[in-house]
Amino acid sequence: MGRIIFLALEEVMGRNGVNAVLNLARLQKYIGNYPPNNFAQEFPFTEVGQLLQALDEMYGPRGGRGLALRAGRACLKLGIQDFGPMLGIADLTFRLLPLGMKLKVGFEVLAQMFNKFTDHLIRLGEDEQYYYWVMERCGACWGRKSDSPCCHLAVGILEEALYWVSGGENFYVEEVSCIATGEKNCTILISKQPLD
Ligand SMILES: [Zn+2]
Repeated sequence: MGRIIFLALEEVMGRNGVNAVLNLARLQKYIGNYPPNNFAQEFPFTEVGQLLQALDEMYGPRGGRGLALRAGRACLKLGIQDFGPMLGIADLTFRLLPLGMKLKVGFEVLAQMFNKFTDHLIRLGEDEQYYYWVMERCGACWGRKSDSPCCHLAVGILEEALYWVSGGENFYVEEVSCIATGEKNCTILISKQPLD
């Protein structure tokens, strides 16, 4: 999973851009030396937080947010290549489910992946209008302090997952609480209905 973050960042900002961010984040040890392609959890949350903090410092909060969102979307695409075949979510039977059911199954599978292969602790909720993606433990803002929610990488991952699961629809996705601003958890709201 850590390796996927590096590869995704490289897609959106090029290798030189990634190297510059790694320098700023004092994570030079990863330059030209990304975590290996395995399931080991060797890329700690403190370093994920450092990396994303450096992204914001280098490009400003707006620029950093844009890059993190795009990197999140790229993470999901790379993740589907790596994990998709063992999840069965590319199967025709899944494709044929009604949208609401597909979203529910999609969130469950994604949350399980995060809970199993990373130190994230994610639970799901919903009301009439929204799905809730609640991160009790969140890598994106680990060790960070921020005035506003800053887990843009996670938002990007969810946006791309929704796009992929729904076959090209866009949804309202917003982080409404964040541990980095002093809240108890990071909560991302997702509208149940696609935007027009
Ligand atoms: Zn967070």
